[in-house]
Amino acid sequence: MTWTAAAARIAVLLAVALLFGWIYGYPHEAVIAVLLGLIVFWLYQMEKVQSWLQDPERAPPDAYGVWGDLLARIYSHQRKNRKTQNKLQANVTYLQDSFASMRDGVVMVDRQGAIKWFNKAAEKLLNLRYPEDTAQTLTNLVREPEFNAYFLADDYTAPLQYVTGGEKPRYRRVEITHFGAGERLLFVRDISESVRLEKMRTDFVANVSHELRTPLTVISGYLSTFLAHQGELPQAYGKALRQMSQQAERMETLLKDLLWLSRIETEQRQEKRELIDIGSLLQEIKEEFREAFPGGIVELVLETDKRVYGDYRELHSAFSNLLSNAIKYSPDGSPVIVRWYSQENKCIVEVKDQGIGIDAAHIPRLTERFYRVDDSRSSATGGTGLGLAIVKHVLAAHDGTLTIRSELNVGSTFTVEFPEGGSSDT
Ligand code: ADP
Repeated sequence: MTWTAAAARIAVLLAVALLFGWIYGYPHEAVIAVLLGLIVFWLYQMEKVQSWLQDPERAPPDAYGVWGDLLARIYSHQRKNRKTQNKLQANVTYLQDSFASMRDGVVMVDRQGAIKWFNKAAEKLLNLRYPEDTAQTLTNLVREPEFNAYFLADDYTAPLQYVTGGEKPRYRRVEITHFGAGERLLFVRDISESVRLEKMRTDFVANVSHELRTPLTVISGYLSTFLAHQGELPQAYGKALRQMSQQAERMETLLKDLLWLSRIETEQRQEKRELIDIGSLLQEIKEEFREAFPGGIVELVLETDKRVYGDYRELHSAFSNLLSNAIKYSPDGSPVIVRWYSQENKCIVEVKDQGIGIDAAHIPRLTERFYRVDDSRSSATGGTGLGLAIVKHVLAAHDGTLTIRSELNVGSTFTVEFPEGGSSDT
């Protein structure tokens, strides 16, 4: 019933009361009596609504007129809300169930760093206990300094890999993302098996390279003896011997690079770190190259005397690779400019050539082992395809980054950036 219909009904009631009151000589009393009756009736209906609202789960009581209409509407709204709520709850449960069944550990952390929820896998991977640890501060429970430093630093651009478990080490990989109002979602995975396989791979490469060196040294030795006595051998052997010797030399370089790469990949280098004067190191490489690349022109521009905390041999090898590439992949006499400067809290080495350049499609893959732009250009220059992989690994161990910019037939610029924290003025 609409409010106008209800008002019309009251008006009719009052008119009838007034008419009868007037006929019997009590118009005022009749109107007052009807009004009082109406108030009592409305109070009674209100009481019905009020008591129903205290437990709105049950069906609404019968009510008259506007009140009945009102109750029906409230009830229908409520049913709609309940349906939406159930749907939402079902979605939340579904999401929680799927997170719960994941093999990766999942932890939800609030903005204060307290645990809100975690799944079964997280219990195992982070040694959490359910339900005691819910609402506890995560960093109080996970006692790995590396994990805690990563979590508190709040910079999750790169995932964290850490080792735990003392005698029987286990490897974990952690990724964190922000969501909602400062909450964090943490994924943790056991990567022990892939670390073990990766170690097997590097060990295998290192062992094979090592084992191949001895027979190769013997072959190279005999080849040099034969070459030294070329005159005593049939003439047709000369070319073959020279080619064999060249290939043996290539193989030696390849094995040397492979061994070096696996050493860089596996070594714990913290204790061998020292402050390295990058300017002098570049000067030294330039001198060494004078003999190795007589046609190469290297211009050194040293604008800072900052030093970098690191491993001398590794940095020497990384910059040598960049510089030798720049010379190898440029025409004779074309200058290579090496600049050492600092800018915006970074120390930068820039190796710039005006050589053959690299097509943009190859750039993202250049630092992969054995990746070459084309075999012909590398075999002409005696490359192994390992140079930039070595550079990448050395820089990763020095918190450095490598950026490659290049244009075909114009030249390339290889930029190495070290963070300020890893360098010093003194
Ligand atoms: P390589 O031993 O073949 O030089 P690298 O890993 O050092 O192996 O380099 C990978 C490839 O990147 C090379 O084969 C070469 O094609 C390309 N490259 C590297 N540096 C340069 C450069 N300065 N100019 C042009 N091409 C380059």
